[in-house]
Amino acid sequence: MTRIARELKEEGKDVISLSIGEPDFNTPEPIKAAAKLAMDNNITKYPPVNGFPALRKAVANKLLKENGAEYHPDQIVVSTGAKQSLINIVLSIVNPGDEVILPTPYWVSYPEMVHVADGKVVEIPTDIHSGFKVSAEQLQLAITPKTKLIIISSPSNPTGAMYTPEEMASIAAVVAQHPHVCLVSDEIYEYITYGKPFVSFGTFPAIKDQLVIVNGVSKGFAMTGWRLGFCAAPMALAKAMTKIQGQFTSGASSISQMAAQKAFEMGKEEVRFMVDKFQERRDFLVAALNEIPGMKCLVPDGAFYVYPNVEDLLGKTYTGDVVNTDEELCMYLLKVALVALVPGSAFGTPGYLRLSYATDLDTLKIAIQNIKSALA
Ligand code: PLP
Repeated sequence: MTRIARELKEEGKDVISLSIGEPDFNTPEPIKAAAKLAMDNNITKYPPVNGFPALRKAVANKLLKENGAEYHPDQIVVSTGAKQSLINIVLSIVNPGDEVILPTPYWVSYPEMVHVADGKVVEIPTDIHSGFKVSAEQLQLAITPKTKLIIISSPSNPTGAMYTPEEMASIAAVVAQHPHVCLVSDEIYEYITYGKPFVSFGTFPAIKDQLVIVNGVSKGFAMTGWRLGFCAAPMALAKAMTKIQGQFTSGASSISQMAAQKAFEMGKEEVRFMVDKFQERRDFLVAALNEIPGMKCLVPDGAFYVYPNVEDLLGKTYTGDVVNTDEELCMYLLKVALVALVPGSAFGTPGYLRLSYATDLDTLKIAIQNIKSALA
């Protein structure tokens, strides 16, 4: 897909990419100023492996203030992106043959991380009918003595689905019944929610000793390139993750850490304008997709993705070629509509497409027009 998109661009065609997973906004100025100040003050040496104490304190304050979750700064491990936080957790906990439960559709990197640790992925299927959410009953059935981790992202990449506090309470109740299981709550899309308030799994005291919260500055503060994430974990696990990170990469960039401290001190109100823009685009996109015959799209509560079901579009023929799968449909839309999307198969659920709306509204309108014509 990427290669063909590039070739089409080289031919002078205007390919629109709706496959991107990062905000199209710039990092706010005060955050950049904090980074410049860090450089001017020569904060350019190796930082502590788990992060500067002042940053970990800012994170602990954020967790308490915004998420109602109480953590000591020593339970925070700062990493090079939420991605590194996640692999640190997996490498600390998962031994060969251990099971990791992933609701599908999952974020693409989760299963690959489990494979790195020779763990076994146990999928729990969800679909458009269940709102792309697992039930407590499904979870209860999937847990075995070999289960080590459950990884949940809410709001979700790729669907944008967000669990309600009631659904979270019932999931937490199941997790609490299995003390050998750890719940990883990937809260990286926390700030990007529409109307319904975000609730962290950190608000359920019964699972405190089994919970790892993963978050960072990438999505909420438009800081994907700064590579700064963190996790909040039980003390022993935080120590294990610090040991692993110390041998792999050491502490995250000192300059990014100073910038992130400023971001957490500023808080979510500073980035509200991005969410308002995302919401306008989401509303346009969902309505436009549902008007296309063969597409069914839920209204997501968060993140910046929509995830329409396209099964009714499969099996049709275009100039002799049958479009049988979501991957072939993506390829068709790339070649004919000049729009790059991601097939649902990449997230473990064939029959869907992921469209990112981290792109301005005018571009989205052109993309939809092109998709409509190509499908007609
Ligand atoms: N978790 C989810 C669900 C994501 O979608 C992403 C990025 O796309 C990450 C984690 C990684 O975030 P970071 O850029 O901070 O490594």
